[in-house]
Amino acid sequence: METEKNKGKILIIGAGGVATVAAHKCAQLPHIFKDIMIASRTITKCEAIKKDIKKRYGRDIKIAQIDADNVPDLIKLIEDFKPYLVLHLALPYQNLHIMEACVETGVHYIDTANYESPDNPHFEYAQQLAFHDRFKKRGIMALLGSGFDPGVTNVFVAYAQKHLFDEIHYLDILDCNAGSHGQPFATNFNPEINIREVTQVVRHWEEGKWIETPPIMDEKSIHFKFHYPEVGERESYLLYHEELESLVKHVKGLKRARFWMTFSENYLTHIRVLHNIGMTRIDEVEYEGARVVPVKFLKKLLPEPSSLGKNYKGKTVIGNIMTGIKDGKVITRYIYNVCDHEKAYIETGTQAIAYTTGVPAMIGAMMLFTNTWTGEGVFNMEQFDPDPFMEALNIYGLPWHIVEHEPLPEKF
Ligand code: NDP
Repeated sequence: METEKNKGKILIIGAGGVATVAAHKCAQLPHIFKDIMIASRTITKCEAIKKDIKKRYGRDIKIAQIDADNVPDLIKLIEDFKPYLVLHLALPYQNLHIMEACVETGVHYIDTANYESPDNPHFEYAQQLAFHDRFKKRGIMALLGSGFDPGVTNVFVAYAQKHLFDEIHYLDILDCNAGSHGQPFATNFNPEINIREVTQVVRHWEEGKWIETPPIMDEKSIHFKFHYPEVGERESYLLYHEELESLVKHVKGLKRARFWMTFSENYLTHIRVLHNIGMTRIDEVEYEGARVVPVKFLKKLLPEPSSLGKNYKGKTVIGNIMTGIKDGKVITRYIYNVCDHEKAYIETGTQAIAYTTGVPAMIGAMMLFTNTWTGEGVFNMEQFDPDPFMEALNIYGLPWHIVEHEPLPEKF
């Protein structure tokens, strides 16, 4: 496909919370995103986004129904609409199918989460990186993980590496949601993906090795109280997160990399019970003649993440604490963003978790549309110049701060 000719056309796949925010942000920038199509499995969700965008900005966007696991249908949709780029904001199960369709049609690709196989909770970049030579040969780019974490957290590291440190030795990424949605139990992004992520065995990286520790609901899980800017102290749990995989590969001199996420006692109690009774299982169970995957059934019962915004109050605080060497001295810096659920709702009709993911997804697309980030093949976020992305975060709703900080302890 003659991609330069199609510049200005973006195809967003998925119509959940994250896609809603990205579509709004693209619609706010008609000089860059001239023609927007949103395609998803359930057309009524696309219609709702289209209606809201028309009401807020007076813009008409296109919509389509698609099963993104069906590669021939995807190819047809791409050939009909002829986008410059596909922004994949459906689920991690679709990554390989959408990448395949992009290679076939010669269209750039962006996602916000790495590939997961429905029957294997272990996730890694290997299968997506295996597309590198085919993307390169086609002269197109795949930008992996352009959300907040992964995404902005990778860019924060690249920025710190470029401007603040000669060498980064210790990296701690801390993700805090200090908001309250008023539901007894709900997840902030897709329930199935969220529950798969938080129930897995935890890994962090130390001196060249992955160290395994118990999952967050285990009584031996590793956690500590951290004082977050603007929201105060929150219990933060060691968790495996995918950006660790690419960062330990790309940051020279790194000795340790950890990821922490806050969980309330209420959330943990629900997860423990659901896990103990088998409702988080990802394998099929026979029930009255039907094959049922418990976590998929559970997803059906839980609130849609995109519906949580209305009553959400409070803030998210996500950022990196990094310790390393600058001009022969040991220094520690904390780079973070604070995002307000209520403000996110007023602007886009969704909560801050979707907002903090959808905004960087739009910025990633903007980096390609404006030829600011160029390359052929499959890339992680930290492989590009962080400056234009950091500048865009400040302009488009996710301003960041850099402060001095105490180094975090080695053990808790
Ligand atoms: P939602 O569940 O709200 O939305 C997912 C959307 O994808 C739904 O519209 C769903 O359709 C659609 N979809 C699912 N399967 C298919 C398919 N086969 N074909 C077409 N459409 C499909 O999820 P979120 O918006 O909360 O999350 C979206 C993505 O963002 C996830 O991959 C998540 O992991 C990622 N994420 C990344 C973060 C980051 O910081 N990097 C943070 C948060 C999320 P239907 O309505 O029919 O189910």
